[in-house]
Amino acid sequence: MIRLAIQKSGRLSEGSLELLNDCGISVSNGIGRLMTQASNFPMEVLFLRDDDIPQYVQDGVADIGILGQNVVVEKERSIDEVLALGFSRCRLSLAIPKNENYNGPRWFEGKNIATSYPVILQQFLDANKVKASIHEISGSVEIAPGIGLAEGICDIVSSGSTLFSNGLKEVEVIFRSEAVLVANSSLSAEKKALLDKLTFRINAVRQSRNNKYVLLNAPDDKLQDIISILPGVKSPTIVPLAMKGWSSVHSVISEDKFWEIIDKLRDAGAQGILILPIEKMIV
Ligand code: ATP
Ligand code: ZN
Repeated sequence: MIRLAIQKSGRLSEGSLELLNDCGISVSNGIGRLMTQASNFPMEVLFLRDDDIPQYVQDGVADIGILGQNVVVEKERSIDEVLALGFSRCRLSLAIPKNENYNGPRWFEGKNIATSYPVILQQFLDANKVKASIHEISGSVEIAPGIGLAEGICDIVSSGSTLFSNGLKEVEVIFRSEAVLVANSSLSAEKKALLDKLTFRINAVRQSRNNKYVLLNAPDDKLQDIISILPGVKSPTIVPLAMKGWSSVHSVISEDKFWEIIDKLRDAGAQGILILPIEKMIV
């Protein structure tokens, strides 16, 4: 049995449950419950505040956890980062009043900065040899300059609209974060084996999310050009069509290069292009 800690409710919860589900692990959601057992994997799931997860994993109350990299770094617990998970992406930024002239990190010299992330902020200030006072506050950081508590802030930014409506502008991204899988650093052999099983499934899910299956028809005289455009997992599958002089080409392409490749395929003479989602992908 392995015990996983995930966020009870917040920006990580949905992604965490969806990932487990895609890994074939059924967990009923934790509304009103602290712990539940997966029905088809030897796993217990603990629902916690994200800030508490590093401590629980370090102490071994939970064996593994899913949380933001920002919290992993901020909490400074000795736990292992096993795998980046690709969701809950966000950035931690410095912001100052809109009308200020920003001249680089030196702007913050001798100033007060409000944040919920004193550790990451201090690392940035040290790396840039800037001396500033950090005011740690736990919420609504963006109102601090308006009420005279600080001259600048360091907070998580998604669209920037909260900053804007508080008369602030983003001047420096100091940390980029995504959800990660963490583990206690001295797991038993049995738990390690379960963690390996889980990471194998997560990798298969992530591969499938990042790739699409492509089928297309190509005239045989254009086949070489078309094959050279397709990256594929190994090499594409070529099947002759009933119509003479034509073949069907099957391959896998990654999401980030998707439109670029489709455009090139069309230019090279591909027709009847079909794109299919991949359910799971084991490479
Ligand atoms: P809790 O009640 O569990 O302490 P919280 O209020 O601290 O929750 P959330 O706002 O739910 O935390 O954010 C959890 C994590 O999600 C953050 O630590 C960060 O890694 C990530 N995150 C925060 N804001 C965003 C965003 N706008 N978009 C995507 N991910 C985000
Ligand atoms: Zn939190």
